[in-house]
Amino acid sequence: MTGGRPAVDRERLRRLPKAELHCHLDGSLRPATMLALAAERSVAMPRPDAEALAAFMEVTDAKNLEDYLARFAVTLSVMQDPAAIARVAEELVLDAAADGVRLLEVRFAPFLSTQQGMTSDEVMAAWLAGMQRGERATGTVARAIVCALRHAPVSQSIAMAELAVAWKGRGVVAFDLAGGEAGHPASAHKAAFDVARRADLAITCHAGEAWGPASVREALLDCGAHRIGHGTRLIEDASLLQYVNDRRIPVEVCLTSNVQTRATPAFAAHPARTFFKRGVVLSLNTDNRLMSGVTLTEEYARAAEHLRFSVADLCVIARQSFESAFTPWEERRALLDAVLPEIDAVRDAR
Ligand SMILES: [Zn+2]
Repeated sequence: MTGGRPAVDRERLRRLPKAELHCHLDGSLRPATMLALAAERSVAMPRPDAEALAAFMEVTDAKNLEDYLARFAVTLSVMQDPAAIARVAEELVLDAAADGVRLLEVRFAPFLSTQQGMTSDEVMAAWLAGMQRGERATGTVARAIVCALRHAPVSQSIAMAELAVAWKGRGVVAFDLAGGEAGHPASAHKAAFDVARRADLAITCHAGEAWGPASVREALLDCGAHRIGHGTRLIEDASLLQYVNDRRIPVEVCLTSNVQTRATPAFAAHPARTFFKRGVVLSLNTDNRLMSGVTLTEEYARAAEHLRFSVADLCVIARQSFESAFTPWEERRALLDAVLPEIDAVRDAR
């Protein structure tokens, strides 16, 4: 024990096979790559070296989710051509693989990279090509979730849903709605969700992060979400939490990000432990490796340190993270067959 907290073996948690289901492409760049891309493209960066840029990009002073989201303008400034998109996508898979991630679902709103003339289809092609390179190099399965953004017009969300449908089966596994939650209800984007639903595409939705359980209710009932991104404030609605648990709807937990955006006042106050004890299906996720300054291994370690998850508990979450993926079931089944003995071995290691 250190300072009253259990000592955590991070190398053991790194070895634990994990699936990461909630990770934003534009929030997960390497600082050194941002500087290299910026230099090649004559784009200004707010800090001149990788260490200072990493510190600048890690959000430690956000008052709310909107403050947190403001950092994304910096990453997007170097994500406006196919070579840059492919590079950051490949590197994310490499970094995740080194972190013990064996299945990675990366999300992004491609229209954000059309500021200098790329089409959304060109963004998709570069994004998927980069992830395929990473997958070939590491064996970590990487799939894409196309995002729409709450504060954008519904016509833009419909365009993103149509893009997701067009690329379904070629690496895209789901559609998501992200962005500032307060004042931008998911129900306003129902027409976009309907496009995805009619094409049998899986759906997740950021909800219950910056707005209360009513947002989760909309995501589930109006938008047809199969998973919930964050879901932190589900804790405020016992009936809805029971519904989520009974229906086995997976909740994509992002501990560090929730502390940063003040969705929860502190790690130890996060409801993830309560959710787990109730039997809710959970995954742990970084949300944004750059803005949160974390790896997935570190998220698992913080769950142990602050919320008293045992290694056995974390092994349950690791298994649930694979089971909850949107990657087609046959692929998931094959991955589960491969990783379950490894998860058991990490659990039983002394
Ligand atoms: Zn997110």
